[in-house]
Amino acid sequence: MNASEYLTAERSQPWREELRKSVKAAERTRRERVRMPEQDALTRVTNQLEVNRGLDEEQAVAEASRCLDCAAPTCISGCPVNVNIPKFIKYIEGRRFLEAARCLKETNALPAVCGRVCPQEEQCEAKCFYTLKLKKPPVAIGNLERFAADYERESGNISAPEVAASNHTKVAVVGSGPAGLAAAGDLARQGYEVTVFEALHEIGGVLKYGIPEFRLPNAIVDVEIENLRKMGVRFVTSFIAGKTCRFDDLRAEGYKAFFVGSGAGLPNFMNIPGENHTGVLSSNEYLTRINLMGAARAGFDTPVPAGTNVAVIGGGNTAMDSVRTAKRMGAQRAVIVYRRSMDEMPARREEIHHAQQEGIEFLCLNSPVEYLADGKGRVTHVRVQKMTLGDPDASGRRRPIPVKGSEYLMEADLVVVSVGVSPNPLIAKALPSLEVSSRGALTVNRDNMQTTIPDIFAGGDIVRGGATVILAMGDGRKAAAGIHRYLTGFA
Ligand SMILES: Cc1cc2nc3c(=O)[nH]c(=O)nc-3n(C[C@H](O)[C@H](O)[C@H](O)COP(=O)(O)OP(=O)(O)OC[C@H]3O[C@@H](n4cnc5c(N)ncnc54)[C@H](O)[C@@H]3O)c2cc1C
Repeated sequence: MNASEYLTAERSQPWREELRKSVKAAERTRRERVRMPEQDALTRVTNQLEVNRGLDEEQAVAEASRCLDCAAPTCISGCPVNVNIPKFIKYIEGRRFLEAARCLKETNALPAVCGRVCPQEEQCEAKCFYTLKLKKPPVAIGNLERFAADYERESGNISAPEVAASNHTKVAVVGSGPAGLAAAGDLARQGYEVTVFEALHEIGGVLKYGIPEFRLPNAIVDVEIENLRKMGVRFVTSFIAGKTCRFDDLRAEGYKAFFVGSGAGLPNFMNIPGENHTGVLSSNEYLTRINLMGAARAGFDTPVPAGTNVAVIGGGNTAMDSVRTAKRMGAQRAVIVYRRSMDEMPARREEIHHAQQEGIEFLCLNSPVEYLADGKGRVTHVRVQKMTLGDPDASGRRRPIPVKGSEYLMEADLVVVSVGVSPNPLIAKALPSLEVSSRGALTVNRDNMQTTIPDIFAGGDIVRGGATVILAMGDGRKAAAGIHRYLTGFA
């Protein structure tokens, strides 16, 4: 049975037919999209609690009832891990919440994470029938995914996917971000003995050290990791593959294949004067100090500059997380300085909207050219230049062009630079025969994610540069399938 025959067979199951017929399609499409309840903006900037509060059962069922259970569902093609979206949504409509969660976990090892941080508006929801044909707000697929995963967790009735009997073949996963976790989950299901080696003392990659608590609580990530442990995945922390131990040493220990998901943890800077002043730091450092090393929590002595006037340079998700974190750390003024206009800003619309509600200022069409410091070397000002937009560049976005003579000074006692990341160079250094691109990304065969060293597969940000959680997971899954074919002789 091919994928589309499988979907049709699933859709024809009596319970789904009955549910479909219980409400006319015209009535379904008349229903308004259910709004995600949020913590009030004035309150939430004083705490680290989640902004989005989650749908309750009635809200979830109401939203699920908008889904038309299309005969040829286009939403699935928008999901990099091919979640069977109509099926899990119809389980919710039928109040079979635990089955909805189980359905999600068949193809997605981290549904509670994806329900919170995936850019659904560019993926599954962009391909929803409501968006494509009716020009109406799409079914809230992400909010429903989050609901099902949260329901399962809160019920205490957490299911782990079935795991095949051990095939006694050891596979090493390097890096415990979403790419590594997805690969580990799929390999464990197929009976491999999987060990994840993580450089940091915590598992989760950017999910833990980058994305703040108010968007993705660490406790939620921990539950998803615990699921993998239940499936037999072993985690080794504070272990830098290529430094703590060579790949050859791991081969000698019996590891037959590797998945490298070491991420893009190297922050970019703009190479402008003053970047070494005290109080100018990368988003990576700023967020890691707060999210991973507890700088905002009582009982931790990790230092972090609080900042009264904070300038965050950039317009991506990382910039939004940094500027909203600065607000929660007590900044009186927290400003996004972005060289293009609001239309080109790459951050998710929801994050921009939340930032605006929280009083974040947006200084678009402005770019820093220098950071100035006091006599002690502490940053005091940013010299900013105004920009205008020219023709589109290679990214398809209109190119920012400096406006001559437009420079001015802006006060800032903390500058957080968030202008992109590059792949971590360590693995390439440890394995000189590995082919890498000019931008430091590992070269892979996109069909199976195999690198130029046959027993090493790779995916996620180390291959793509800074991308998204779900793309990293999709790579991890594809690599797991590639590793299985490689180890079983069907490469
Ligand atoms: C602040 C921030 C906010 C973001 N927000 C979103 C969002 O809202 N939605 C979204 O979809 N995406 C978002 N992203 C992007 C997303 O988080 C990444 O694309 C994704 O995490 C990449 O996954 P990965 O597994 O490839 O790498 P990572 O998550 O970076 O994990 C790599 C792991 O490998 C470890 N490692 C590195 N080298 C070694 C080594 N030699 N040995 C052992 N371990 C090693 C690292 O310590 C790290 O834990 C955000 C990114 C940031 C920084």
